[in-house]
Amino acid sequence: MSFIDLIYPKRCPVCLEALPPGKTLICPPCKEKIRRVTSPTCMKCGKPLMEESFEYCGNCEKRMPLFVKGLSYAEYTSKYVRRMLSEVKYHENPQILDYPCLDFGDRIRDEVALWGAEALIPVPVHPSKLKSRGYNQAEEIASRLGKALSLPVDPGYLFRSEKTEAQKNLTEQERRNNLATAFFVPSSHKTYESVILVDDIYTTGSTANACTRVLLASGISRIYLLTLAIGRDNRLTL
Ligand SMILES: [Zn+2]
Ligand SMILES: [Zn+2]
Repeated sequence: MSFIDLIYPKRCPVCLEALPPGKTLICPPCKEKIRRVTSPTCMKCGKPLMEESFEYCGNCEKRMPLFVKGLSYAEYTSKYVRRMLSEVKYHENPQILDYPCLDFGDRIRDEVALWGAEALIPVPVHPSKLKSRGYNQAEEIASRLGKALSLPVDPGYLFRSEKTEAQKNLTEQERRNNLATAFFVPSSHKTYESVILVDDIYTTGSTANACTRVLLASGISRIYLLTLAIGRDNRLTL
């Protein structure tokens, strides 16, 4: 048992209780409480669908994303998943990402290997948020997924400009306009052939799409996407 374990015990990502010192990253019964994404899912973004007969979710059908394919770990509609991510975002507790990232990595390893990606690129946060929070949750996820998938993480490729407004108070069109100029790649950077963009949550895909556009423009041919949580597509055939 290390001194650090005593002062800062690891916490379970589901119940948030302190775990016994050692290698345990989640209480065994809590493993079942994570609502992992299962098929059928959108062939493009990986969003869970209500019916097998749909190929794509409503969002992708309306506006097909520019990335090649996305995969996500768990459903954002699950209260445990929502609480886990808000804990990471607002309570400075990124350690609870250890288990979900390891588990996600194990489940997607074979498929991701086919993508031939050279690096994971986290979606950057607004510089003021980085200052107040001290870390970027997407980078915390990327570094853990990088370990699980044996891929390097490149947090120095894609940046977010100082000037963008908070997305919360904007309409969908305003969000897209706002995002269109939010991200940039410094021109001096060596480019890649294939990368994986990493974010915490996928909803309408507007952030992932804005990042993908900038990555494509920087010369990368194929961009994939991994997110820890994703919304659900609720359409049904009538
Ligand atoms: Zn637990
Ligand atoms: Zn989709």
